[in-house]
Amino acid sequence: MPQSRGSTRREFIKVAMAAAVAPTLGFATQAAEKLSLELPPLPYAYDALEPYIDAETMRLHHQKHHAAYITGLAKAVEQAPELRRKTLEELLLSLSSLPESVRTAVRNHGGGHYNHSLFWQCLAPKAQASPEGPLAAAIARDFGSFDSFKESFTKQAMAIFGSGWAWLVWDAGKLRVETTPNQDTPLGVRKKPILGLDLWEHAYYLRYQWRRAEYIAAFWHVVNWPAVAALFHNLVQRA
Ligand code: MN
Repeated sequence: MPQSRGSTRREFIKVAMAAAVAPTLGFATQAAEKLSLELPPLPYAYDALEPYIDAETMRLHHQKHHAAYITGLAKAVEQAPELRRKTLEELLLSLSSLPESVRTAVRNHGGGHYNHSLFWQCLAPKAQASPEGPLAAAIARDFGSFDSFKESFTKQAMAIFGSGWAWLVWDAGKLRVETTPNQDTPLGVRKKPILGLDLWEHAYYLRYQWRRAEYIAAFWHVVNWPAVAALFHNLVQRA
């Protein structure tokens, strides 16, 4: 349709002109800022995951713990404003090339921001018990069955000494369970987490105290499998 081609071309010219003009208007710095230092809102209410994860834990975890990682990362950005030109994922993938003065802060606070942002997305009230479609098929292929995946994930989550995370990661074409200490992420050039479980005591101590096994069992009731499947789908499409 000639008319729509014409309008597409006009749109293109408009965008191209805006890009050419922007630097002279002083927009260059803003356009280059890719790092988000905003606390992402939870996609559900604080009490939505009751009785599995209690409202008070969710509120403190989101408003205090996650927010503190963002504050920590923002302090690093004050010292090294060039950090803003990369996405959080790009920063975490290039830790070794960051200035030494901010490297640990980005690893810990940037990692905390990344891990928690993913964690909230992986949870949902009234969740379905297991995934469907291509993700279910890939879990069956790489773990034998959904139950053996859950068993492996639970075992590794239980084995974390101190604070850390358990993950389901897509690693160069294969799903694997992994753990990381502290706020380290499992990110790699061809590796991305699609499901994470926070095993810091702040994630469960109010309700479960030392009973980590009960917290892990409760977690399976609130996994947002459609969200995990969407992350999986994006990775498979990019591969
Ligand atoms: Mn946490």
